[in-house]
Amino acid sequence: MPTHITIGDLDILCVSDGILKSSIDFVLGLEREDTMRISGAEPDGALRIPVNNFVFRRDEARMLIDAGAGDTMQPTLGRLPANLREAGVDPAAITHIIITHLHPDHANGLVDGEGKAVYPNAEILVHETEHAFWMRENDGSEPDSVLRMRARNRINLAPYLSRIKTMRDGESFLGCAPVLAPGHSPGHACWMIETGAEALVAWGDLVHFSTIQIEHPTVAVKYDLDPDQARESRLSMLDRIARERLAVAGAHVSAPGIGHVDRHGESFRFAPLGARSASNTT
Ligand SMILES: [Zn+2]
Repeated sequence: MPTHITIGDLDILCVSDGILKSSIDFVLGLEREDTMRISGAEPDGALRIPVNNFVFRRDEARMLIDAGAGDTMQPTLGRLPANLREAGVDPAAITHIIITHLHPDHANGLVDGEGKAVYPNAEILVHETEHAFWMRENDGSEPDSVLRMRARNRINLAPYLSRIKTMRDGESFLGCAPVLAPGHSPGHACWMIETGAEALVAWGDLVHFSTIQIEHPTVAVKYDLDPDQARESRLSMLDRIARERLAVAGAHVSAPGIGHVDRHGESFRFAPLGARSASNTT
């Protein structure tokens, strides 16, 4: 059910792409028994996580954060276009898509089964490091998972090639600025979004398993291309977010995924912001 949350002067429509079934087998750095107890996993170790997306207006622009999985991963995913329509937003009305990183559950939904743009009028905003990594030629040293995702990203971006805006740290566009937080992918970025009163951080997969990694931020996941670097990014961003009292929008935090983070010693806690149901369009 799409919902709205207000942060500062920003009305954010929270829209789900669906539920991603994962497993505690992907957790790195925590005993299985502890993982089972903390994570809320099912008895067989299955861990179902939400895939959250966000839409907001900025002047004449209508911006979407990440594009979901499309029909490429699991039947419980790929609901974003239908859920947008249900909330009164035609995918053709989206003018910009901020991509936190080019992983399948964030980028494969850019195109339909025939490789056509799902968002025919949208420009893509992505960190230049992320774009360069996935668009470059294979160097022979990279794992198969990278080669597969690189091939797929050529399909994802093909209909958008003339409208990709790569950005670097320190640059801002319509009040949206990327902050490189690498490790999960080489150019994974958290996006700072001005809201007037307080900034909102769309943190992508800074935290992949939110029931584990917010309270235990040193825990990494096998999805991280560089788990050590991902851990460092997570610790420093969580520290900044808690210190500066920034609001966060998390791709895989319990839906709708918006709230604040408080520090408790070496640990953090997520405090969700209340949502109201979508009665008007954003
Ligand atoms: Zn993800």
